[in-house]
Amino acid sequence: MKDVKAYDISFFGEFVDKDCEKEFFDYDMKRYAKVIGPVALIFGVIFMMFLIADYFVIKNHFAFTIILTIRTLFLIVSIVVYLVAKKINNYIHLTYLIATYEISAVIGFLIIIGHYEPLTLLSFLSVMVMTLAIYITPNKLTYAQIISAFLSLSFFIFYAKHIESMEVSVLLKSIAYNFIIISYCNIGAYITNFYKRKQFIDGKELLRVSITDSLTGIYNRAKFNEALNQWVDDCKRGENTLSLGMFDIDNFKRVNDVYGHLVGDKVIQNVVATVKNVIQSTDVFARWGGEEFVILLPNTDIHQAIEIMERMRICIQDNKYDEVENITCSFGLVTLRENENGESLLQRADKLLYDAKGCGKNIVVCEDGIIIGPETVLT
Ligand code: GH3
Ligand code: MG
Ligand code: MG
Repeated sequence: MKDVKAYDISFFGEFVDKDCEKEFFDYDMKRYAKVIGPVALIFGVIFMMFLIADYFVIKNHFAFTIILTIRTLFLIVSIVVYLVAKKINNYIHLTYLIATYEISAVIGFLIIIGHYEPLTLLSFLSVMVMTLAIYITPNKLTYAQIISAFLSLSFFIFYAKHIESMEVSVLLKSIAYNFIIISYCNIGAYITNFYKRKQFIDGKELLRVSITDSLTGIYNRAKFNEALNQWVDDCKRGENTLSLGMFDIDNFKRVNDVYGHLVGDKVIQNVVATVKNVIQSTDVFARWGGEEFVILLPNTDIHQAIEIMERMRICIQDNKYDEVENITCSFGLVTLRENENGESLLQRADKLLYDAKGCGKNIVVCEDGIIIGPETVLT
């Protein structure tokens, strides 16, 4: 489990931990990836439709041609975004695409209003609408802040003075309104970002708890069954081998009775830690119940599996404890047969584990009656 500190959210509304932020960001953008393209296309078409209004307002033929060109270029950019967005798998690249799209919309808008004679207060209204659109579009908050600041500053520096009836008092009020809109957008975006991240953490924690055994931290039975069925399906489709080991701590009732349940718990945790050192990260290790464990070994044939189980048996047997005498485990080991399902594989492993208990414990019993124990020397 990740350190809780990794989930801390910074002043800027992002996870302090960069990996965690990337994981969240990929998850978040993935949800929007499908809608970005259609939204861009719709916005491109709306931007084009303003040409009808331009036709009635713009009297200068040259200015109208420029506006037509800008709107057409933006429609082409929108179509490109529509076609490209759904193919992007790297979500950082998607943010670059969205930012480029927004910058082209802003530049297009600024060029067009430069050709409007006379400029009215309506153009100020359109700056506010564009600011809102920039903040609503899913992207990194910093990009929205930079692009909207660029839009507002350019508008107020270059165009505001050309607006008809824009007296100083009206100009100041417009700047104040714009400031309110930008502040409101930032506060809204911050709160949304903050709670989306909180929800993401809660979701992750819930998932972790639902698949983890609380005493040992390894997978629980439900997660193991899911992984088992997946690997069995996988094997049916390919030529892969799959082995399954089931083991149980020997004479564990005695440990509980003599030393108490808390010491018993520690022994269980210790056995798990020992096994974890022997297996690989691709192996699926779970607590089946009580002091019984299962381990799934993908792409492992019976010979390799025997070696792994034997190594586990020896490591557990050789482990020294402060409070109790040496602990041993008994193992049942099977490999998947053709057309067999997960349930039958488990049943066979359980049966062999039962046999191992009957044959004196601290041994590995495999199919075909192969028994490996303290007296066996592996070649
Ligand atoms: P065998 O060698 O045949 O396995 O004998 P055993 O004494 O180990 O018998 P069994 O496997 O049936 O014993 C299971 C015991 O494990 C009974 C139960 O009280 C104890 N146990 C199950 N879960 C826990 C746990 O989480 N903590 C502790 N301390 N004990 C547990
Ligand atoms: Mg036992
Ligand atoms: Mg048991």
